[in-house]
Amino acid sequence: MSSFDQLGLAEPLVRAVTEHGYTIPTPVQQQAIPAVLAGGDLLAGAQTGTGKTAAFTLPILHRLSQPTDKRGIRALVLTPTRELAAQVEESVRTYGKHVRVKSMVMFGGVGIHPQIVQLRGRVDLLVATPGRLLDHLQQRTVNLDNIEILVLDEADRMLDMGFIRDIRRVLAVLPKQRQNLLFSATYSDEIKELADGLLNRPERIEIAPRKATADLINQRVYLVDRGRKRELFTQLIEDGAWHQVLVFTRTKHGANRLAEQLSKGGIPALAIHGNKSQSARTRALSEFKSGDLQVLVATDIAARGIDIAELPHVVNFELPNVPEDYVHRIGRTGRAGSEGEAVSLVCIDEYKLLADIERLMKRKLEREIVSGFELDPNARPEPIENGRRHPQTGRGHGHDKPAQAGHGGPAKHHGARAARRPGQSASNRSGSR
Ligand code: AMP
Repeated sequence: MSSFDQLGLAEPLVRAVTEHGYTIPTPVQQQAIPAVLAGGDLLAGAQTGTGKTAAFTLPILHRLSQPTDKRGIRALVLTPTRELAAQVEESVRTYGKHVRVKSMVMFGGVGIHPQIVQLRGRVDLLVATPGRLLDHLQQRTVNLDNIEILVLDEADRMLDMGFIRDIRRVLAVLPKQRQNLLFSATYSDEIKELADGLLNRPERIEIAPRKATADLINQRVYLVDRGRKRELFTQLIEDGAWHQVLVFTRTKHGANRLAEQLSKGGIPALAIHGNKSQSARTRALSEFKSGDLQVLVATDIAARGIDIAELPHVVNFELPNVPEDYVHRIGRTGRAGSEGEAVSLVCIDEYKLLADIERLMKRKLEREIVSGFELDPNARPEPIENGRRHPQTGRGHGHDKPAQAGHGGPAKHHGARAARRPGQSASNRSGSR
């Protein structure tokens, strides 16, 4: 078993992580830290929760804290979301508190002027989302001529969010001679293409997710009619006395609508997604973490990279179009040895998505039907609108014909636990989509 001081890191960095409570490096840290210290390129397959942030920030801090007369921004970390950028820079400050390295975080949705002012001062390490960085490049308020180390964090998600052009425009202005680190949870053809063009004989490391999803997460699938999802969801919350529920929808619009409807029905809920202001997102997140907010409704992109873990309940109000997102979503529950429950509310339009998820996980999920929510035998599938594009094919499932297949045999009838409550009428059955 190795410890942080055996990885070649400077003493002030080892001291900072020890003070922060870490004693043993995680697998990705054990492999990536020596590799990055050695100066070569790196291709790392590691997702959130594996300790990947420290795996690249620690060796970068080590390199930047060595005596030098170099000036300017020397390391650049690109992230897909504002939240992730903020978290990465927060980690840089935590681990770098005993060394003289100046970091800065930059993202859109907030005023540009304070960033311009900060850029006039000393910045050694910049953490940025691609869009705002390009704004600064166009305005010539940032200078990337001195970049020695580039990190693409959650590169798969950046491609997924359509940042490839922005990334290429940033790459074009960087010095050719530099160290490149690419972190990605998944390997699509697009990622391979990006890695091939970017990385020079990279060291490759592949880290399994911290926990196999099947182990501690109790996955349940409830089949339900399209128009009755919200009613079922409300009932599950009330019957189970769920107090901290993260619920996913496919679209921003769906997230807003669900949060509004729940709030009107007396269940405190807020939505987070890309159209919300930074302060609204931060507020919703902190209220949710503190337990004041019962339900947080999120889209996949908004939830990505946010450090909310060990939740007792994650609900897929709608299944994701990209099966990998299912794994990310349910990974929010049952962390660090505590049991969690991931519930999916699946209507007839989503059977194909469910089959895709099962194929990815190599595991069949049992379908259940809550009594009182028997399926309408005359229901017909409808196309799913506004789907996120599939990262590998570039095609959305949204325009595919919904398939009837993948039903996986007869559904089990749910027992008394979620039996229909007397107070519920048919009047609140509508409008869950
Ligand atoms: P990440 O994958 O970078 O998002 O990190 C996941 C979580 O693990 C974060 O909350 C870190 O603070 C934590 N973490 C990272 N490295 C270690 C370590 N060596 N020991 C314990 N916790 C860690």
